[in-house]
Amino acid sequence: KIGETAENLGINAYIIGGFVRDLIIGRKNFDLDVVVEGDATEFAKKIAKLFNAKVHTFDRFKTATVVFPDGNRIDFASARTEVYRSPGALPEVDMAPLKKDLMRRDFTINTLAVKINSKDFGKLIDFFGGLKDIKDRKIRVLHSLSFVEDPTRILRALRFATRYRFELGSHTEKLLKMAVQRKLFKTVEGQRIYHELKQIMLEDNPLRVLNKLEQYKVLSSLFDNLNWNRWEKDLFERLRKVVIWHKLNFPESSINYHLPFFGALFLKEDYEDVNRYLSFLSVPEKEKKEILDMCRLIIPTIKRIEKAKKNSEIYSLLKSKSEEFILLLAAYPESEETREKILKYLKEWKDVKPLVSGKDLINRFKLKPGPIFKEILNKLKYAIIDEKIPEDN
Ligand code: ATP
Repeated sequence: KIGETAENLGINAYIIGGFVRDLIIGRKNFDLDVVVEGDATEFAKKIAKLFNAKVHTFDRFKTATVVFPDGNRIDFASARTEVYRSPGALPEVDMAPLKKDLMRRDFTINTLAVKINSKDFGKLIDFFGGLKDIKDRKIRVLHSLSFVEDPTRILRALRFATRYRFELGSHTEKLLKMAVQRKLFKTVEGQRIYHELKQIMLEDNPLRVLNKLEQYKVLSSLFDNLNWNRWEKDLFERLRKVVIWHKLNFPESSINYHLPFFGALFLKEDYEDVNRYLSFLSVPEKEKKEILDMCRLIIPTIKRIEKAKKNSEIYSLLKSKSEEFILLLAAYPESEETREKILKYLKEWKDVKPLVSGKDLINRFKLKPGPIFKEILNKLKYAIIDEKIPEDN
């Protein structure tokens, strides 16, 4: 239907970018981006109407998101027909709006488009040799100033290279090394760097990407005093396993999985350095506090857990902590025994309910409500957690 709508309106519509790349590589990707050579907001509204879907339009950018009744969504953007032309520049050769749009992208592998008009449906458009680069397993920029124009692409290049086990094209590699050497990160807004680092922490294996960042001296260029040694790498590996465990056990969870990885990255650093790094990255206040708390509290908390004689002591320690913090806490110890206890908190103890409720205490046991209630209910809860019958009192 989308193809027919495009055809009826007489405009061209294409699926572009990551979805097409991943389709060819054979990796799951649910982010559908559609570019239309025309007004994307009008187009999206028509599609939404056809499918009884909701549409959010952003008129300033001529983009829109359609959310279908089943929860699926598609982003629509207008191919920029004309942008800025510098004074004195030669008149532009007439170029397809799609091509102009794709020229602004980061790597050739992200420039593939598939036409979805009902005529030509499924036709692959490949202006920049993206298909060959996917086959050759190469990450290549579109032009020599790409990393200068936007240094966050350095992080993206190394993330994609690691994820797909691709190599950097040899010219691209030279350009990337030069860009790092020239310390171009200093010219970028911190929050854009943070956004890309966050994407790295959300990869299946952030450790491998960070090793690549180290290899290309990106880590030391971003964080001048950072240690990236055996200890940090082992912690990242343990954390990766803990996160997999968590996702398996709590598939609906919407916690910020990137935060424990940032915690792990900065844990052994000087507190003042961490503060400086997080300010440089313009990390949102709440996340900044969370990461700093991790750095400050992890060792004392672990020590108390290791000393705890009863499970309920661990429960009391953890119940005020965020789940993100607890994941890092679970990854921290080398001892499996301590880790097991922390994971048991998440899986069992966290949601333990005493077998009687406050209402029971009033109705069945004829007690008067008061502070004693909380004490009784807590005792009952701790008894379950400690797997012991509470004493009579
Ligand atoms: P992922 O699988 O990680 O979501 P993606 O390619 O969909 O990968 P996004 O970060 O969502 O990644 O970007 C969407 C598209 O926007 C990319 O395919 C890329 O072409 C383009 N893009 C994103 N960031 C940049 C950038 N800094 N410079 C140029 N193009 C970019």
